[in-house]
Amino acid sequence: MTRNILIVAGDGIGPEVMGEVERVIGWYNDNRGFDAKIENELVGGCCYDAHGVAVTDATVEKARRADAVMLGAVGGPKWDNVPYEGRPEAGLLRLRKDLELFANLRPALCFAALADASSLKREIVEGLDIMIVRELTGGVYFGEPKEITDLGNGERRGVDTQVYTTSEIRRIAEVAFDLAKKRGNRVMSVEKRNVMKSGVLWYEEVIKLHKEKFSDVKLEHMLADNCAMQLVRNPKQFDVIVTDNLFGDVLSDIASMLTGSLGMLPSASLGARDANGKACAMYEPVHGSAPDIAGTGAANPIASILSFAMALRYTFELGADADLLEKAVDTVLANGLRTGDIMQPGMKKVGTKEMGDAILAALAKLNG
Ligand code: NAD
Repeated sequence: MTRNILIVAGDGIGPEVMGEVERVIGWYNDNRGFDAKIENELVGGCCYDAHGVAVTDATVEKARRADAVMLGAVGGPKWDNVPYEGRPEAGLLRLRKDLELFANLRPALCFAALADASSLKREIVEGLDIMIVRELTGGVYFGEPKEITDLGNGERRGVDTQVYTTSEIRRIAEVAFDLAKKRGNRVMSVEKRNVMKSGVLWYEEVIKLHKEKFSDVKLEHMLADNCAMQLVRNPKQFDVIVTDNLFGDVLSDIASMLTGSLGMLPSASLGARDANGKACAMYEPVHGSAPDIAGTGAANPIASILSFAMALRYTFELGADADLLEKAVDTVLANGLRTGDIMQPGMKKVGTKEMGDAILAALAKLNG
């Protein structure tokens, strides 16, 4: 069964870090029978330069058919003045929209060797492994009416609408329950039902779905403001957190800082399953194209490599292979290798390619 992976490396450091991901995929093909076929396409500024658009229809179609899309990063000062529809981010947004990627997964994983890089104390973050599941295509960012109106008396009124339907809530909760089964089997559903009707509906629908299909998973509920506090007080109490678009935006950024550096953070966006059980999926580092270091070979490839580990776990359902890759990253960090962004005193500073080499060597050693 050949697996189809589309790589859209994008701009800036995107091609540098995705080059290392390609080598890791190659290693899995050669050593773990992964059997993946890779295709490369343009997205972002480089696509605008070549085709006058940030992503072509043909690439969107390829992304839809691929088992997984691996994205690097898009953007950079070179494209600051291109027309709004052609801006690099438009390519990314179109892929998310056309593939209906409604579930955003942001893990916060703290490697022991980097525990001191967190703004919190070592004992609070060491060994941390939580997953935030954020609803990505609904809620207050998209609800109508969404407008600013002139009230005529020198006053203006801005309105955004928080709106969720049963099916929107159920499909994101389903993703969270499914994920929990592959992890610690616990879901924390987060809303503000004390002050929001959409929160009441969220709460009720999650409970209903849990009773119907997921009673073997432990479900708890928390108000969003308390969750923000608990994330910095005792983050290890969580396994999977599921929440709406707005709260997820804020909570996932809080959680990401628990682990230190932008260069370490992977993410995934998943779509609905079709009749054949296939779901579109896009995996990407949280960081951007880092124009300040692009082309210098200094970028940290770990966020992108950990994004591939997520693809192994969540699209290809190869949990042991994902564990192996995370363990290889852990080993390299424990051996004292660091790219510039995570450099600490007494450690050895390496570039993108050397970090990739070290991860491949650790994979080979762990694989025996
Ligand atoms: P950025 O994430 O690109 O960089 C922020 C800082 O972190 C920079 O100093 C950079 O050097 C550093 N950094 C980021 N990733 C790193 C890595 N892997 N290794 C080492 N250091 C790393 O954010 P920014 O500077 O605000 O944005 C730069 C460009 O990226 C902009 O055009 C922005 O629109 C775009 N952007 C794209 C995405 C995306 O493609 N998903 C996300 C955010 C920003």
